Amino acid sequence: MLTKSPALATKLSRLGIHCVEDLLYYLPYRYDDFTRVVPIKDLVGGETVAVEGVIERIQSVRAWRRQMQLIEMVLRDGTGSIRIVWFNQFYLLKAFHKNMSIAVAGKVYANKKGLYFANPAYETLTDNQQPLRPITEAANRNEAIHTRRLVPVYRETRGITSRAIRILVARHLPAAARMSDALPLFVREREGFLPLMEALRAAHFPANAQEAEEARRRFRFEELFIHQVRMLQLRRIRARQSAHAVPFDQSLVKSFVDGLPFTLTDDQRKAAWHILQDIAKPYPMQRLLEGDVGSGKTIVAFLAAYETAKAGYQALIMAPTEVLARQHFAGARRLLSSRNISVGLATASEHRIFIRQGGVAVEKKISAKLFSARAASGEIQVIIGTHALISGKIAYNDLALAVVDEQHRFGVDQRAALLKKSGDGVAPHFLSMSATPIPRTLALAVYGDLDLSRIITKPAGRQHIETRIIPPHKRNEAYAFMRSQAQEGRQVFVICPRIESSETGEARVAAIGAPERGKSSAWSDVKAVKDEYEKLSKSIFPDLKIAMLHGRMKPKEKEAVMEKFIAHEYDLLVSTSVIEVGIDVPNATVIAIEGADRFGLAQLHQFRGRVGRGEHKSYCLLLSDSAAAATASRLKALTEAKDGFALAEIDLDLRGPGELLGGEQSGMPDIAMEALRNPALIEAAREAASQTLAKDPNLAIFPSLQDRVGKLGERLHAE
Ligand code: ADP
Ligand code: MG
Repeated sequence: MLTKSPALATKLSRLGIHCVEDLLYYLPYRYDDFTRVVPIKDLVGGETVAVEGVIERIQSVRAWRRQMQLIEMVLRDGTGSIRIVWFNQFYLLKAFHKNMSIAVAGKVYANKKGLYFANPAYETLTDNQQPLRPITEAANRNEAIHTRRLVPVYRETRGITSRAIRILVARHLPAAARMSDALPLFVREREGFLPLMEALRAAHFPANAQEAEEARRRFRFEELFIHQVRMLQLRRIRARQSAHAVPFDQSLVKSFVDGLPFTLTDDQRKAAWHILQDIAKPYPMQRLLEGDVGSGKTIVAFLAAYETAKAGYQALIMAPTEVLARQHFAGARRLLSSRNISVGLATASEHRIFIRQGGVAVEKKISAKLFSARAASGEIQVIIGTHALISGKIAYNDLALAVVDEQHRFGVDQRAALLKKSGDGVAPHFLSMSATPIPRTLALAVYGDLDLSRIITKPAGRQHIETRIIPPHKRNEAYAFMRSQAQEGRQVFVICPRIESSETGEARVAAIGAPERGKSSAWSDVKAVKDEYEKLSKSIFPDLKIAMLHGRMKPKEKEAVMEKFIAHEYDLLVSTSVIEVGIDVPNATVIAIEGADRFGLAQLHQFRGRVGRGEHKSYCLLLSDSAAAATASRLKALTEAKDGFALAEIDLDLRGPGELLGGEQSGMPDIAMEALRNPALIEAAREAASQTLAKDPNLAIFPSLQDRVGKLGERLHAE
């Protein structure tokens, strides 16, 4: 059992720790270096060290602020004494007493009264009531877990500290001897990794930095490896499912393509070719279509949907927002209805169909119930919508193709729900579309169960968006430019700075006592938008019509603001990053991004794609309050790069994969995310995974691996 305390168990479960194995796999994300133990007389302000001594005095003192509880302590060794202050840790009065030997570690501070420690890490050495005597010999270093060594620091949650986790880990570490290694021996030996027991000990309580790194290397690989095994297994399972084969009808494709007002780019052609080949097979397609904003993914999806409908099956296209779904519906109606295909739109707020009746095409709004009936009968051939499509109320008829647009907006479970939709035991062909350009190695690692198509070149004649870095002293010129564009009848986006939840956001939230950790960033972003909105509408653009958009608004409210902005009821829209989804406002010509240096390049590039969608010349203004050269050079890549893929590579180098993927949606633990910076490691993990499955597809001879892979699956589905 992990702990006898049910309260602690609850807190642990919030960290995903349910059993000893979970606990031991809860690896520190860094270490405090408290290895230097010094005599008190040698303490120097500003250094981080450990000391050992005997408590000479301990007392609570009146704090200058009412809410603050303060304990003062004097610790003495044979060479001198040092002051220690503890804030808000009143229970220490009970834990400590005079003449007790303890070790403390942390940063040494200095003020008028001399040197002191503030809230240092601590541990008891001997709890005797002996009189004061010099400590001649350091206590047994092996038992140190909070001081006098590399001390592991864990991700914490409310009410459970790294210290508590450390104590639990130290207590349960011997159980690692009974755990079996998920890495097959042949893999572990080839890669030269530490055995599991060793590696766990080294990860939590390393003798030195090198040992810690060696352990980390093993666990990074292990997570990637397990993820890859799962991906490959999923692939095998799906390859055994059956799907409706949609025959590749060349003349149909030709007539569709010939009817377009433009010619497809080579990349579009190639992607379409892959997709049409895939859906012609009697087992489900699993494909990711990556393409920069504006690269023309939609038309490729429509072509596949058209073929599917013509073959007598149903196709579905799911978009993350109502506005986007409506845009797709309008597009599909234009393209498909003239070809005698019926199209439906299903969102939380309305259901529409475009259908041929007695030789005339009509569009009408119908009830959800009627919509369902018509979808179930197969009368609606191409169904477009939001996640209303997987709500369970719509039944499908011979669903052969499911397309998810802007897939990063959907969770793993929503994708899974979609795949179960076809109903008759036949899985739909699955096409995922993403405008987040992910470097190939990363795509392989994260979406290893999907085949990859990419549209890299944009359609010819796409206008170049002029991108400018605006230093602080040019801000007013930028405002003047935005006004002149608005006066010419154009529209402007202003994106608010992102607030890092780990730093500023967290601290600010803690100060006002807001409850949850994950909410902090949303809260600060909202504040940033409201402040910016106030500033712009009151002092800078009192003459313009301004609206705002942020993540705390209800989806309905957000949609309403977007619709009004599209209808040009506003000149300027202030927004958080919620705007990034593939929305089309051809009249918008300026996007100004505040705090541009705080966004990843790939995301800035996404923002930039919001403009330049119409006939007017468009601009992206990168505003920054920092004139730092490094920032400028990173942003400069944006003014020069030719496509989002190039920027994504730079992002991956500079900021790591979290920036490109967002932690949760990749379904990967931190340690695996870390590994994604390393293409060689990804390749090695993939290779090892495929060799392992080649030895034994069912993992019967690798039960502990099968176990971990299964757990990973459960976790993904629980999300
Ligand atoms: P995204 O890949 O960002 O979803 P869209 O599919 O929305 O891009 O396409 C952006 C715009 O480009 C649409 O208006 C679409 O009609 C147009 N488009 C798509 N392909 C081409 C092409 N080959 N030539 C010219 N315009 C195209
Ligand atoms: Mg799109």
